[in-house]
Amino acid sequence: MSYDPNNIFAKILRGEAPCVKVYEDDVTLAFMDIMPQTDGHVLIIPKAAGATLMDVPADALQATILTTQRLARAVKTAMQAPGIYVAQMNGEAAGQTVPHCHFHVIPRHPGRSYRDHATTMADSAVLEANAQKIRAALAE
Ligand code: 5GP
Repeated sequence: MSYDPNNIFAKILRGEAPCVKVYEDDVTLAFMDIMPQTDGHVLIIPKAAGATLMDVPADALQATILTTQRLARAVKTAMQAPGIYVAQMNGEAAGQTVPHCHFHVIPRHPGRSYRDHATTMADSAVLEANAQKIRAALAE
């Protein structure tokens, strides 16, 4: 999978497309997935260009997994989730749809179903409400 500089996450990083941001530092960005599999689904990306895990420079990847851990903790608290599913796909054959490396943090509750991957657009007010809970948990 080659890097397309006009992929949606590159546009978000350049400020050319909107996102509901929950965390940012010099190297990484975390924002709400627009088609969440469960409420509170967050994406974490390195700012460095790289289509897949194998393409991201080591220092950026280290920072990205640490931000993923930070978000996993915050999402667990914010969404009162007993389980956190972390997913990361590489290549179309693995189900990757956006060619900029990213980690999914998805809260899971026993007995609750989850929506299919990238199928159902969330209400923007719901995304913002969940983002506020996650930002508050990050600040604890
Ligand atoms: P992948 O299939 O590449 O692992 O996951 C891409 C994810 O990006 C999907 O979960 C999908 O819902 C999400 N996504 C696609 N387009 C957008 C967008 O424009 N904004 C946001 N915030 N998420 C997006």
